[in-house]
Amino acid sequence: MKVVGRFAPTPSGRMHMGNLFAALLAWLSVRSQGGTMILRMEDLDSQRTSSLNADRIRRDLEWLGLDWDVETTPQSLRTERYLEQLSVLEEKGLLYPCFCTRSRLHSLTAPHASEGVFVYDGHCLALSEEEKKAMGRPPSWRVQVPCEEISFTDGVQGLYVEHLKTQCGDFVVRRADGAFVYQLAVVVDDGDAGVTEVVRGRDLLNSTPRQMYLQRLFGYETPAYYHVPMLMSSDGRRLSKRDRDMDLEELSETLSAQAIVGRLAQWAGLNPAGESVTPQELVKSFSWKQVDKEDVYIRDG
Ligand code: GLU
Ligand code: ZN
Repeated sequence: MKVVGRFAPTPSGRMHMGNLFAALLAWLSVRSQGGTMILRMEDLDSQRTSSLNADRIRRDLEWLGLDWDVETTPQSLRTERYLEQLSVLEEKGLLYPCFCTRSRLHSLTAPHASEGVFVYDGHCLALSEEEKKAMGRPPSWRVQVPCEEISFTDGVQGLYVEHLKTQCGDFVVRRADGAFVYQLAVVVDDGDAGVTEVVRGRDLLNSTPRQMYLQRLFGYETPAYYHVPMLMSSDGRRLSKRDRDMDLEELSETLSAQAIVGRLAQWAGLNPAGESVTPQELVKSFSWKQVDKEDVYIRDG
């Protein structure tokens, strides 16, 4: 089977060591298997993303030597296709409107769940047609999940299991303002492009069962997953866009592309001495076995 991988950056700013870490590994995995690399801009959020940022990301990837074979249509131009797939969910009788307020949803947060994680209780499934009409505001749209455990073996993190009903609940696929959510868009985009492997940060590990469920409903094959470690700052926080010293804006002033790739590869366990290197030079010896699942703590300097 032909390997197809992808970069799926959100063009909300400059590339950052955290995204690049996943991008380098995605690229190495595809290139080491002679596969096809896709680039796709995940610009669903029109407030936070821009085509200027997308241009910058393309240039940054090229500068680092992370090339791609095709760029597929950005998410902002795929609304028709997402609508088509939404109607598949509707035809299956799995789609329903949710009028819950934010504060009601917050009250559902499970005591041990991490911040912002709650299990939707299906409240709006029981609304009558009259009650829906009386709401007087546009709803978001949820897909019903089965009472079922979804499990898969991640190429880095190992076995992952989630019970959709009790650990996630019916989830939103389209927001009240009409925007499609990442969970739906990513499944449709990867599925339509024939993606066979998904390499991304571990922060998306718990999205995967929802995505696998949608893949099944839409009739897509499930790709192989590799959820790579997060880069952590020395004070124990996950690196984010707030760590300006870790984005290319700053780093490219003082470091060469090869020095940056050398550092990323060192953190991935592929370049112990951390010397400068091109992505191409890493292809031959690349193996997922070398990549550890533990998060990477980055020393300053
Ligand atoms: N667009 C997401 C990001 O920039 C990646 C989504 C994915 O790889 O599935 O973090
Ligand atoms: Zn609701």
